[in-house]
This record gives sequence, structure tokens and C-alpha cells, in this order.
Amino acid sequence: MNQSRISEIKQIIAKSYGPGYSSTPDQDMGQVARILFDEAVEQFGLRLSSVEIREGITFHAGVPHIHYPMGLVSIKLSNSSYGYWSTFIYECAHETIHLLDAQLNVRFAKTIEEAVASEFSIACATAIDPSYPDQLEKHVAESRLDPVKDAFIKKYDMAQESLRSLGPNWPEIVRAIRTGGTPFHQIDVDLLKQHVPTITDTVALHLSSLQT
Ligand SMILES: [Zn+2]
Repeated sequence: MNQSRISEIKQIIAKSYGPGYSSTPDQDMGQVARILFDEAVEQFGLRLSSVEIREGITFHAGVPHIHYPMGLVSIKLSNSSYGYWSTFIYECAHETIHLLDAQLNVRFAKTIEEAVASEFSIACATAIDPSYPDQLEKHVAESRLDPVKDAFIKKYDMAQESLRSLGPNWPEIVRAIRTGGTPFHQIDVDLLKQHVPTITDTVALHLSSLQT
């Protein structure tokens, strides 16, 4: 993550608890969300979606996701991320990736998009709070005791593994694909092979399939 964005976010977080604090948590979270969005665009290219973004994040008792209130796209996060900065950044960064190529009312994203979202979220959360991976690991270890959650986590692990198998320059590959005009949901086996001639059929098929 870009250093100036890291300090900008850290300042917002520090200010939230400091003297003379005047903005609401929602304003602060909105500002952090915009910074994460700028970072996503810098790393992976401009939005390729005509669906307008509705600013203002909502929270609920379920899992984070994007939704489409009145034909716009908006982020909904878990209640446990409200005001808890590390969790907020982790969840919000993931959903920010889904804003890039949002399509109205589409339920499943391709594996490559989920993998990029997962890698981006952990990178952003760690840049702000270096202890976050440890906290997350404990939380994930608890979740794995539930077979349904365990299966869900495994899918994301496998997605990230396939993405990382493209090599350390996977962010540049994704950026090149998207700046070439292809949104995440149109990435297919042929396109992946064009950009990564060494990719195996298994990985190309996995990354271009829907993560259901
Ligand atoms: Zn996702």
C-alpha cells in the first residue's frame, strides 16, 4: 500500500480517539473507504463498471458483501467491523475490489476476483496494523471448527493459492488484463494464457471459474 495512504488512514484512526474529535465514525469510515478505493484503482486499474457507487457503508448481522440498492452498488459489512478499524479495513478492502467491476445483481464472482479481493484485504489490514495477521489467524482457527465455515475458508485459500502461483508479479498481470479493458467477470482461460504463457490448464480453469 502506498505510504502516503497508510499515513492518511493512520491519521484518521488516531484522530478518531484524540482530542477535538468532531467527525462521526461513519464519516471517518467513509473517508477510509475512499482511500482504500484509490489504492485498489492504483494497483488494479480503473473501474470497468457502469453501475454507480452509492457512498455510505451499511452494517448488518451477516457476512460482508456488495449489494444493489436502487440500481446502485454499495458496500455492506459485518456489525463486528463497525468502529473496529482493523476488521473494518480488512472487510472494506475486500468489498472495494468487488466495486471495481460490479454488475447489477450478480451473486457470484470469478475465483480470480475473490483471490485478488482476499490478497488486497489482508495486505491493507496488515499495512495499517502489523499484528492483524495474528488476530486473523486466531479467528480463522476458531471458525474452522465449524465444517460449513471451514469449507468456505478452504475455497478462499485455494483461490489465493492459484493466484499466487502466477508469481510475485500477479498484481501487474491483473492490472494489465483490466487496463486492457477486460473486467474480472470476463476473464477466461484464453486471456489468462495470453498474459501468463506458463499457466497450467488447472490454474487457468480454476481462476476463470465462478467461486460459488
Ligand atoms: Zn468477495
